[in-house]
Amino acid sequence: MRTITFGALTLAMVAAAAILANAAPAEAEAARQGAACDPARFKVAVDVGHTVENQGATSARGVKEYVFNLRLATQMEQALKEAGFAQTHFFVMHGTTRAQLFKRAERANALGVDVFVSIHHNDVQEQYKSKWEHEGETRSYSDQFSGHSLFVSRENPRFSDSLAFGRLLGLELKSRGLIYTRHHTEDTKVPAVLVEAGIIVNRDDELVLESPERQAVITAALLAAVERYCAIKHAKPPRPARPKK
Ligand SMILES: [Zn+2]
Repeated sequence: MRTITFGALTLAMVAAAAILANAAPAEAEAARQGAACDPARFKVAVDVGHTVENQGATSARGVKEYVFNLRLATQMEQALKEAGFAQTHFFVMHGTTRAQLFKRAERANALGVDVFVSIHHNDVQEQYKSKWEHEGETRSYSDQFSGHSLFVSRENPRFSDSLAFGRLLGLELKSRGLIYTRHHTEDTKVPAVLVEAGIIVNRDDELVLESPERQAVITAALLAAVERYCAIKHAKPPRPARPKK
């Protein structure tokens, strides 16, 4: 659900379409220099969207967004650590007020993470919803929209880095056959991207997002994007050239 993110008051988000359209001079430069990622030096924050007290959107079958966010973010944290990103920080906040949103930003800033990734699953506006019966309960759903989306904030002082990471992640998701859907993070001072992994009010998408296969694909895309971004931002310093005699 996009409305609850980082206490953003005036959101000026750039969607993945715009992210993907941007050129990548830094990446090209890193590739030319044969830069390698040093994961031990790279700090990542994986943020579980929403809180146990305020669980965000409700899926077509009545499962809360927080459940999806926590499960996917946990897998991402594990994958990053297994890949050598020892400085992966897992954010789980509590509370029902906006204070918890600012706390995430504060913590990310204090840690000085290289990239902050907030994990969410999407809802749609009420006007697109219909009712159905599932296991004896009347639930809201909308099968009209499908796919993931990515957001960065123009208010973030590291907007261009956020955009660079968001673009890499968008490409990694796309290269794994995942669809971007057409259908928030200014308090953080570190590069930040908000991931809407999919639309849980879509009845088919909900089942796909519940599958370990899809979770693994999204996790792999995130890991690949982090590795590529790390190679750009934290490349091992090149060996100094020997002075010519
Ligand atoms: Zn959300």
